[in-house]
Amino acid sequence: MKILVGNWKSNGNMSDKKKLFAAIERTKTDIKIILCLPYTLLCCNKSNKIAIGAQNISDYTNGAFTGDISGQMIHDTGAKYVLVGHSERRTYHHENNAIVKNKANLAVQNKLIPIICIGETLAEHQSNKTKPVIKKMLLNSIPDYGNFIIAYEPRWAIGSGKTPKQTEVAKIHQMIFDILKSIDKEKTPILFGGSINAKNITRFKNIPHVDGFMVGRASLKSETFLPIIKSMN
Ligand code: PEP
Repeated sequence: MKILVGNWKSNGNMSDKKKLFAAIERTKTDIKIILCLPYTLLCCNKSNKIAIGAQNISDYTNGAFTGDISGQMIHDTGAKYVLVGHSERRTYHHENNAIVKNKANLAVQNKLIPIICIGETLAEHQSNKTKPVIKKMLLNSIPDYGNFIIAYEPRWAIGSGKTPKQTEVAKIHQMIFDILKSIDKEKTPILFGGSINAKNITRFKNIPHVDGFMVGRASLKSETFLPIIKSMN
């Protein structure tokens, strides 16, 4: 089953959530839809069609860590997923692979499925370092045990309107699949993300080992999100 993850980042309120949920409920689809919402909107999802994810998880378990939201707290809201190592966390909060791996482990320990984001910078892309960078990020960011999802998102493609060539995406997804297979994790879904919209998705949706997409800006409103769902049907 193809997967579509929407990442709302620091956007949206209760009314936006209600509107998008209602629109998705009215849409016929067989794909798995996961909405990664701000903490304030995680609670009390009644939809069978939409699974909920958080966008970050604390490095700590419950305790004296003011302002942190632990894995147990996320699980308690009914959320089933959590983004780990999104490029904006890696850039603005200096989350390295070791931190990402620790968070992925904490997610698994709290019965959440981590969606582990990996992607090269523009400089790495331009100097042909994408393959070694992605290999290292992948092997050093995944949890010690349990299921997870990989989202390959070139950092330079996120929010920029730029996307890699079809052939580049195909090569990297094949490499990620081969690495996962070598560690008996070939059933792990591999998503692609970075400025995906209803138009450009057609270039990527039939690439082998692209098991779905992660979408930021276009997931905020039904006008842009529903056409993506429809094109994945
Ligand atoms: C993202 O936030 O992971 C993302 C892919 O964003 P956008 O679609 O806006 O580039």
